[in-house]
Amino acid sequence: GRPASCTLVIFGASGDLTARKLIPALFHLFCNGSLPQKMNIVGVARSKMTTEDFRAHAREGLEEHASGDLFRWPELAARLFYHPLEYGRLSDYLALERTLRELDEKSGTEGNRIFYLATPPSVYAVVAEQLGAVGLAEETEGSFSRIVVEKPFGRDLASARELDARMHTAFAEHQIFRIDHYLAKEMVQNILMFRFANSVFEPLWNRRYIASITCASAESLGVGHRAGYYEQAGVLRDMFQNHMMQLLALSAIEPPSLFAANRVRDEKVKLYRSLRPFDGNTLWKDLSLGQYASGKISGRAVPAYRQERGIAPDSMIPTFAMIRAYVDNWRWQGVPFYIMSGKRLPKKLTRIVIQFRDVPHSMFRNVEQGEMVPNRLVLDLAPDNGISLRFQAKMPGSKLCFRPVVMHYSFDEDADGVLLDAYAKVFLDCMLGDQLLFWRQDSVELCWGWLTPILELCEECTDLQKHLEMYPAGSWGPESCREYMECLL
Ligand code: NAP
Repeated sequence: GRPASCTLVIFGASGDLTARKLIPALFHLFCNGSLPQKMNIVGVARSKMTTEDFRAHAREGLEEHASGDLFRWPELAARLFYHPLEYGRLSDYLALERTLRELDEKSGTEGNRIFYLATPPSVYAVVAEQLGAVGLAEETEGSFSRIVVEKPFGRDLASARELDARMHTAFAEHQIFRIDHYLAKEMVQNILMFRFANSVFEPLWNRRYIASITCASAESLGVGHRAGYYEQAGVLRDMFQNHMMQLLALSAIEPPSLFAANRVRDEKVKLYRSLRPFDGNTLWKDLSLGQYASGKISGRAVPAYRQERGIAPDSMIPTFAMIRAYVDNWRWQGVPFYIMSGKRLPKKLTRIVIQFRDVPHSMFRNVEQGEMVPNRLVLDLAPDNGISLRFQAKMPGSKLCFRPVVMHYSFDEDADGVLLDAYAKVFLDCMLGDQLLFWRQDSVELCWGWLTPILELCEECTDLQKHLEMYPAGSWGPESCREYMECLL
């Protein structure tokens, strides 16, 4: 059903994410009738703006980033308000509390609030604490108060714990929505559907039939305008601690007994607890790190990472990583999981590849012609959405030749262009109070903990110097991984 009335308060509303993703997603939901009948959107930031300025800023964002007709925009614009605020100043929050109360009274929005933090992570904790201090985190029997935060949730285990402790001074876990917009992509949601709503795949989904699983996310873009952030994060903090760990979990978890937030998130926690810890002495056997050198993307020359604006000329930050992980449980014992992500690869591509084992015995060995390759299932998550199964088939004709063929399901064609944007899904679930597609803190901590040996290694530049492999922009990553990558992607 339609979510209950609420006020959405966006902190950092003067920024890029608000204009590029949040407003277009809200407008989309408004146009398809999914927003609550009574709802206000209050932009909050330090920038001096009036409500009129904020509405104009939002419209510009829409014109630039959304497709489609804007003729209904004035209806949504009338629900937008702006409230300037210093993130650490208590009196500003008292004024915000008054503004929200007045809006509730005027619009009948019933005191339900969602605080969406689209600010740099450095202010997450202070905003949460201040909201708590003025009573805005409190829930009554008939109303809710929720806080939504964007990744990164800390930059290592200690800082993630500290951030969480500070947020919990004001908000309880059921009020905290930690976004991973990957989880809100429709095809990503389809993974559990595919695995657990069919009876033919799950019996094969284990060490007896599967040789390896690869979760890969390739980007052709470089670091762009996010140099400052990326020099701190690198590919491991930017992609692995969040999105890649979720893809790994979705491919490997046990079936939850119910498709409900905590049942699914419990299974993820069990999976993360089963990850084999890295052995500091042999870590490089399971890890490849790379950084892009200059090269060509689609025929266009692009600079090396170290030549990009804002990047140190001797930066040791990895822009590519491939980790071989093992899950120590009955289902997955001995099956390698390859998790890989990189920038400046030939094209944008996110996929999970399930590589099945060879047939145990070929009865065609006396007559066979052609190469018998193992079955492979590919779940394409971006930019195409679909599922492909590769299997052997006889070549037409009198000879006994076989070849691999592919059976393909296109989710894009099925959806006929109406895929729900990930941020729209995030808003919708948050308004409905469903945390299934959001991170729970125990998973956040387990993933940071598991990655810690690698993160520490990256901090000790002496060893990294030997191992960080340069790869030309536009290639499939470092030499040591390229053959594997090309064969998979
Ligand atoms: P942004 O444009 O850099 O910042 C948003 C707003 O926060 C700014 O307009 C600014 O508003 C305020 N701000 C900036 N620096 C600040 C500081 N040092 N202290 C206090 N306030 C500051 O960020 P964004 O790209 O919109 O992203 C927002 C959040 O979403 C970040 O946590 C980011 O990691 C995450 N995220 C962004 C994207 C994306 O595509 N942009 C994707 C995934 C996650 P005022 O100066 O007016 O206060």
